Amino acid sequence: MANQDFPLIFERSKEGRTSYSLPDLDVPAYDIENELEEAYIRKNPAELPELSELDIMRHYTGLSNRNYGVDSGFYPLGSCTMKYNPKINEDVARLEGFSHVHPYQDPNTVQGAMEMLYDLQTALKEITGMHEISLQSAAGAHGEWTALMMIRAYHEANGDYARTKVIVPDSAHGTNPASAAVAGFEAVTVKSNENGLVDLEDLKRVVGPDTAALMLTNPNTLGLFETEILEMADIVHGAGGKLYYDGANLNAIMGYARPGDMGFDAVHLNLHKTFTGPHGGGGPGSGPVGVSEELVPFLPKPVIVHKDDKYMFDYDRPQSIGRVKPYYGNFAINLRAYTYIRTMGAEGLKKVSEYAVLNANYMMRKLEKAYDLPFQQHCKHEFVLSGRRQKKLGVRTLDIAKRLLDFGYHPPTIYFPLNVEESMMVEPTETESKETLDGFIDTMITIAKEVEDNPEVVQEAPHHTIVKRMDETTAARKPILRYEKA
Ligand SMILES: *Cc1c(COP(=O)(O)O)cnc(C)c1O
Repeated sequence: MANQDFPLIFERSKEGRTSYSLPDLDVPAYDIENELEEAYIRKNPAELPELSELDIMRHYTGLSNRNYGVDSGFYPLGSCTMKYNPKINEDVARLEGFSHVHPYQDPNTVQGAMEMLYDLQTALKEITGMHEISLQSAAGAHGEWTALMMIRAYHEANGDYARTKVIVPDSAHGTNPASAAVAGFEAVTVKSNENGLVDLEDLKRVVGPDTAALMLTNPNTLGLFETEILEMADIVHGAGGKLYYDGANLNAIMGYARPGDMGFDAVHLNLHKTFTGPHGGGGPGSGPVGVSEELVPFLPKPVIVHKDDKYMFDYDRPQSIGRVKPYYGNFAINLRAYTYIRTMGAEGLKKVSEYAVLNANYMMRKLEKAYDLPFQQHCKHEFVLSGRRQKKLGVRTLDIAKRLLDFGYHPPTIYFPLNVEESMMVEPTETESKETLDGFIDTMITIAKEVEDNPEVVQEAPHHTIVKRMDETTAARKPILRYEKA
């Protein structure tokens, strides 16, 4: 365990220490005091730490060792798909022909980069079954918003201004109602039934001539596949609304089912989840949007086209909703996703879904005795447990998550989804070995026993981390982010 009293770099500083050695000056020295205009002379020199190179290396290496990432251990953060990021992606992203491209370079001079983007679109069209893809959106939520703006433009192009509502199931990802609101719609909730799936009767009740779209997270945030999709499509399309597929977690169905074949009009993918973009710390991401033929005119511009053996940007799109991102998307994340798709191939991507679903079901069945499992059917890529039994013994899900830190694990997502009491949302991902899954299962069972025999040890966790139990609200609302001299 790292030392609790790890000094700040300022505290390690000793006047006069340096970590560089410059060659002797071989030009006349510049007399700053006398030759530089007064206004340019710094009155209060910056207080920079002074350290040797070795001390700097130890300082930052020490800090990096305190970090937790998917390369350091198991990271079952439900809905976030913290799967392994293959290192070949990094090699390809660093190829100079890609990494040195200027975003404003004439497309004629970067045909290889343009071709890569075009081929990625083609692959994603095949994977989703959609008519066209835009790679511009920078994240899942951004993709949702982009698609909703297209749906709005579509309705307005038909003179249909009354469609002000977007229907969102209570089992949707939290970004769905937020995106609907930001796109200017009113989000209307549709309830789940006792199986955790969209309640069709409730859907029929809320759908109407003011419905712009239904946003469906599938598998939903309970990790369950919505089985009545075709009925839902009929209900929503029958009322003139569009169907939106939140495909952030496509590793549950990739190679087996396609939103386009299910009748969806728009879908977004999270390339930083399913397609291995590293996304710790919030980004950068890529949330491409796929659309049906009817929505193609409204795609963000420019659109990449392949004509006369050339890859070009088409700006001549009169009905486009406009640009949604400077340059053309997060190029390097798109490149990593492209590398991943080419590495895996069609059969490989199918295997991804198989293992993602197998791993989640294996873990779920091993844990269903130690924790409550609110929904009994097989899950897809993730599952939701409830800590309500442990809560009766005075231990909350938050305590269980903190205790996991003592065992060296990143905890699962907790208190989401909201429709399960004391929820824990576990997503093992397809890239973990059986030994890793078993290690986590054993630890979860150990903690469940501790709750019965020795609840204080869980309630007071973590015991072995650098930072102990925090006041989470203060840490989030009033973080101290800069060094202040004592
Ligand atoms: C992660 C996720 C999102 C949001 O994606 P961001 O890239 O974080 O904006 C949306 N829907 C689902 C189902 C997700 O898992």
